[in-house]
Amino acid sequence: MIGIHPDNQAPELKNYNVYASDPALRRAVERGGAQWRDAELVRQGAEYGAEATLRAAEDANHFEPELHTLSPTGERIDQVRFHPAWHTMMSIARRNGIANLPFFDDRPSAWSAHAASLYMHSQVESGSTCPTTMTKACIPLMRLNARLYSSTGPLLASLEHDARDLPLAQKRSMTVGMGMTEKQGGSDLRSNTTRAVPAGEGAWGTEYLLTGHKWFFSAPMCDGHLVLARTDERGATCFFVPRWRPDGGRNAVHIQRLKDKVGNRSNSSSEVEFREASGVLVGEEGRGISTIIEMATYTRLDCALSSAGFIRQAFVQALHYTRNRYAFGKALAEQPLMTELLADMALESEAATLLAMDLASRFGSAAPLDTAWRRVMTPVAKFWNCKRAVGLTGEAMEVFGGNGYVETGPMGRLFREAPVNSIWEGSGNVMCLDLLRAISRNPGDAELVLEHLQDVASQAPTVLAQVSKLRDEITRPAEALEREARRFTQRLALVSQACLMLRHASAEASAAFIGSRFDPDWGPVAGISSGTGNPAALLRAAWA
Ligand SMILES: Cc1cc2nc3c(=O)[nH]c(=O)nc-3n(C[C@H](O)[C@H](O)[C@H](O)COP(=O)(O)OP(=O)(O)OC[C@H]3O[C@@H](n4cnc5c(N)ncnc54)[C@H](O)[C@@H]3O)c2cc1C
Repeated sequence: MIGIHPDNQAPELKNYNVYASDPALRRAVERGGAQWRDAELVRQGAEYGAEATLRAAEDANHFEPELHTLSPTGERIDQVRFHPAWHTMMSIARRNGIANLPFFDDRPSAWSAHAASLYMHSQVESGSTCPTTMTKACIPLMRLNARLYSSTGPLLASLEHDARDLPLAQKRSMTVGMGMTEKQGGSDLRSNTTRAVPAGEGAWGTEYLLTGHKWFFSAPMCDGHLVLARTDERGATCFFVPRWRPDGGRNAVHIQRLKDKVGNRSNSSSEVEFREASGVLVGEEGRGISTIIEMATYTRLDCALSSAGFIRQAFVQALHYTRNRYAFGKALAEQPLMTELLADMALESEAATLLAMDLASRFGSAAPLDTAWRRVMTPVAKFWNCKRAVGLTGEAMEVFGGNGYVETGPMGRLFREAPVNSIWEGSGNVMCLDLLRAISRNPGDAELVLEHLQDVASQAPTVLAQVSKLRDEITRPAEALEREARRFTQRLALVSQACLMLRHASAEASAAFIGSRFDPDWGPVAGISSGTGNPAALLRAAWA
């Protein structure tokens, strides 16, 4: 028996509803209180699965951005030009609220609504999530400078993508990027050398002139960037550096070259030099690193959400492919070993979605458990989902056989996209150390989180035993825990996922997740199942 295609080739997955076909996502949105967004998310889900969107996503990556440093008459313009498909993806992201929703909608549930859109967008085209999520993360910081915000607030609130390279006064909306990483260091921001010197009063407060460089400076066509630079008086400080100065001239942010990246190719990432570029203070002088860290909390949440999206897309593509490809007399999806592998991917996807969506839902709340959860679990979810996406996208590529390893299908781009979430916004080790710092700074937070996990795990002795280990481990001094920080972070991630599965997944899915993830044979290879349960039923429930 062979499939519906005469050559047994699986048809492209297209024209499906990314939202309506994802029961775990839809339930998470409801739990987050965002039912009010359901109809709009159904619309977005159809838009993300539509053939036209998939083609735009492909083109935006195939026709890569180009740098033009000089005009035909030799003036510096430092422009990056994009294929129109990039602007299509940017318009979709913007219209769907990815660049601003939770900061302009007072409902706490706006975080869940926004999270669902970002998770879907990442499944289809991830490059455009870079400038849009950076813009969103910058909003609370832009509010720290009241004069700056009075002119930029309406532009940040806009749902329109305005790609024109013009001074802010002439624009209908704006994007904001961030510039921290320099040649000598990205994780250790204390090593930043870019200098800022005061240069008198300007439209948005005291103006500073910045001299130095940034080694990674994504989306240089943004209308401005939040940049870390040192003042002689107080050290590391956060500045808003606009693309066009308030007086209408081009700012001296010179793009040296665009990075030739492994993936994320639709998005331009550059190296820049500041040659007395104009900037204004955002936050207190000398407190730049803690100001920037607030922004990083939001981008780290977005990395966890976006990687959950990658895992979901890897699973859905693998399931679709194997249902339509036949070998040894059956659809691949019905071969017992393939069914186990797919079911394991379904579990991984549901657990990743729960971890990220649950975290997002806590961003709108000031309750003590939610505050503690955000502080403790943001680095954990960022670490774990981003790491798991790298493995899972590779596994799904293999499920496609040779068709996975060519650029004529969706798997190559997904696979190349996955590692970047693990690198930027705090690489893996940095996340583990961040978790230890969160625990040592506020031990009560970790206690609250573990108490909650213990309550949920009371029904599941295997998970309960893991919570006890975590409770013992956090009493050790941070220095002693440092060498084992990856093991500790992994355990906390798995225990949290197990508890979320216990609370929100079917009894069958949570039993299979716990049975496999805490099995001593579980490890880097996907598809190590507990050998029990009904994998075919799990698959039917995972993709409606
Ligand atoms: C595509 C892309 C786009 C980017 N865009 C931007 C941007 O727009 N703006 C921006 O500011 N940056 C950007 N970055 C930079 C990114 O944030 C940094 O690369 C990242 O923070 C790591 O910094 P680094 O490259 O200097 O590595 P390093 O800081 O040298 O770290 C190297 C490795 O060492 C590990 N490490 C560091 N410290 C420790 C420690 N104490 N103990 C154990 N391990 C440790 C890290 O986890 C990492 O794995 C981008 C990067 C990429 C790949």
